[in-house]
Amino acid sequence: MSGTLTPALDFAACMGTGWQIAPDLSLRLALIAGLLGLSVWARRLRYFPGQAEFVALHAVMTAWVSITTAEHAAMAAACKGTLALVAWPFIFAQPVLWTLFLRRYVRSDTQAPTLRGALLIGLPWALLTALALSNGAHGLFYGPGTMLGPPILGLPRMHYDYAALYPLIFVWGYGWLLSAMVLVFGAWRQAEGSARLQWALFMLVMAAPLLANAAYLGLGWRLMGGDPTPLSYGVALAVFAWLIRHDQLFRVLPMARGLLFTELPDPVLVLDGHGRVMDANAAARRLAGANPPRTTALGDWPCFGAPLAALLAERPEGELHLAQPELVFEVRARDIGPEAHPIGRLVQLRDVTERHQVQVRLVQTLVERNKQLDQVASLQAELREQALRDPLTGLQNRRALAQRFEGETARPLALALLDVDHFKRINDNAGHAAGDAVLCALAQRLLAGLRRGDEVYRFGGEEFALLLPGADAAGAQRRLDRLREEVAATPLTEAWGAITFSAGVAEAGRHGDTLDALVGAADAAMYRAKEDGRNRVRVAT
Ligand code: GH3
Ligand code: MG
Ligand code: MG
Repeated sequence: MSGTLTPALDFAACMGTGWQIAPDLSLRLALIAGLLGLSVWARRLRYFPGQAEFVALHAVMTAWVSITTAEHAAMAAACKGTLALVAWPFIFAQPVLWTLFLRRYVRSDTQAPTLRGALLIGLPWALLTALALSNGAHGLFYGPGTMLGPPILGLPRMHYDYAALYPLIFVWGYGWLLSAMVLVFGAWRQAEGSARLQWALFMLVMAAPLLANAAYLGLGWRLMGGDPTPLSYGVALAVFAWLIRHDQLFRVLPMARGLLFTELPDPVLVLDGHGRVMDANAAARRLAGANPPRTTALGDWPCFGAPLAALLAERPEGELHLAQPELVFEVRARDIGPEAHPIGRLVQLRDVTERHQVQVRLVQTLVERNKQLDQVASLQAELREQALRDPLTGLQNRRALAQRFEGETARPLALALLDVDHFKRINDNAGHAAGDAVLCALAQRLLAGLRRGDEVYRFGGEEFALLLPGADAAGAQRRLDRLREEVAATPLTEAWGAITFSAGVAEAGRHGDTLDALVGAADAAMYRAKEDGRNRVRVAT
């Protein structure tokens, strides 16, 4: 059990060695059980960012403390050396897992690790591990001067001969821990309330092994005769146990906020000052149908990038219409950082497709309804028009005259009734159609002879009525006579030739005030015209 050796992997030595119970065994076993318990507990928790790393970290620490405990208990130097080497892969992994866990936890990062990232960390770790495990061949970690030293607490202790590559362990380990520290320090500075306490305790957890390791290596400080570093994880255990007991761990605000961002069903994007996408939640990536690398310009994002960038260039709010897939989003962008110098923008998209479709359908229905209403209105107007018009001549009818007369206040005002002379003869000799043609032609002739404000109506059969505002009885008689002479002078139709008519004229006020009275008076005058030999105009008496 004396002499020097270069520690090398020699598992046979461990098969043959004797074992001693160390005085600190119960403490170490309790620590191992605690670390293992924490790992298992974390594994069973509902998902939280960094969960896998947290579980692995405590599994690795469990392994490390277990191996150093075995190293203490082993009697043979070759076995102690073997166990010391076997611990290295775990020692290398431990600070890496801490940092990875904290990175995810602090940033609530739920994205799957990339192959590139895994290789970037995995390859140096594998190289360090290979170097450590092959120490027997080169002695670059533990040199050939390694030997059993004087027993401590009654147990043989190894005196390790630290060789050239040994400091690499610290560069690696402290480098990682430092970056983790920076991360947690940043989170601590920004946090408030209970979250702040959590980050402070995280820093304590990380500082404990650092301090213990520094004390061990720098000052030669030992705890129960050995390296206090693995035992310092007891501090971590105590802190985590306390945090869990007080319901703080993995349930606090930053995580909730992060999760909210990640799990929000609506797409959310974080842009930097140059319009590059610094972060996008799962919904945004789902909508894009891709996972563009960080810092891709928003305009270059697939699916919605270009139209969204165009919209945001004009105004911070609006509706985004996508064709493929057919979706409508309400967009809202808010500046991040101080009002005067924003450092970026938070862009929120809310899916309002359904609401939009309902609106479109509503508008369509309204348009349809309005069209129907218009149709009904024009049909009604047509009906009204038909009710007031004579289909044969196209002139207004007697009902129209009654409507027009209502509220007619013009004075003087004359009403003339005229009746075609011997109209029956046309029907009898040339046929009913020829009679119709004469009625139509006469209607046109009467219309052509009207002045502004005059109206002509088909009063019945071959009788017509003329309403002449501004004309007294004498004036009306003169105008009717002129018309009569014109009609008598020129043939109305080729089939029949010229016709004559007889007319009676009545003046409002003088011969009556109501339409009925005026019609009666004009009718009587017209009959006198007939009796007097036709083809003449008579004024009512
Ligand atoms: P008078 O000089 O006395 O007025 O003789 P008349 O033949 O004009 O008088 P009467 O009232 O006896 O005849 C009117 C005729 O007009 C009778 C009717 O068949 C005809 N009539 C009425 N409405 C129409 C019509 O829309 N078309 C045609 N072709 N004939 C009509
Ligand atoms: Mg008649
Ligand atoms: Mg007649």
